Amino acid sequence: MTDLLSLNKQYQLISPYNRLLHLFNDFAAQDILVTTSFGITSSILLFMIKQVAPKHPIYFIDTTYHFPETLAYKQTLTDLFQLNVITLLPDAEANEKSRAEQLWQSNPAACCQINKVDALQPIKERHKIWVSGLMNDQTDHRKDLSIFEQRNNIIKFHPIIDMAQYDAMLYMTINEIPTHPLLSQGYDSVGCTHCTQAGECRMGRWAQFVGKTECGLHL
Ligand code: SF4
Repeated sequence: MTDLLSLNKQYQLISPYNRLLHLFNDFAAQDILVTTSFGITSSILLFMIKQVAPKHPIYFIDTTYHFPETLAYKQTLTDLFQLNVITLLPDAEANEKSRAEQLWQSNPAACCQINKVDALQPIKERHKIWVSGLMNDQTDHRKDLSIFEQRNNIIKFHPIIDMAQYDAMLYMTINEIPTHPLLSQGYDSVGCTHCTQAGECRMGRWAQFVGKTECGLHL
């Protein structure tokens, strides 16, 4: 059984980059799952991965509802950082049903389940640790998360969890990392086209649904 309390204490005192470096020393690479949404702050984790584990697989869930700008940004960062990106698609039949029924309007939780959660599930089952770029100041759910968290059968690892949005932007500027094309249009967070509008922090995500702030992947 992994001692997460002790790991959290050790990793708390070091930088996000060193956390990632230590992770790849402390755990077997084949047990480590990395995902990205190619969203507004995704490039920070990807920039670090490119240095710590250059050829490590990075999974991207293509819900089929992404903005063209997100797919263009995916290509930009993949080329620039020479990333090993693997695109996952939802089950075709279920995805088509979600489109036909416009499920994002009537039942966004079910839509996210089909197009995000279920699409990742088989890959999750093959790994022990899941690295993602969640940050404490993004949602109520995320504000109390630690660097390591046990979630059912997988350990979640959040190397940039204590980085504030301002610091994230500064990090990208200092390292001359290209920003998502929608950032300059007022989008602080970007997901699927149907459920994203311009807005501060994550205010533009599922704005028409009170209380929905997460797709379910990280719950
Ligand atoms: S974010 Fe919206 S469109 Fe995308 S999977 Fe979830 S409900 Fe569906």
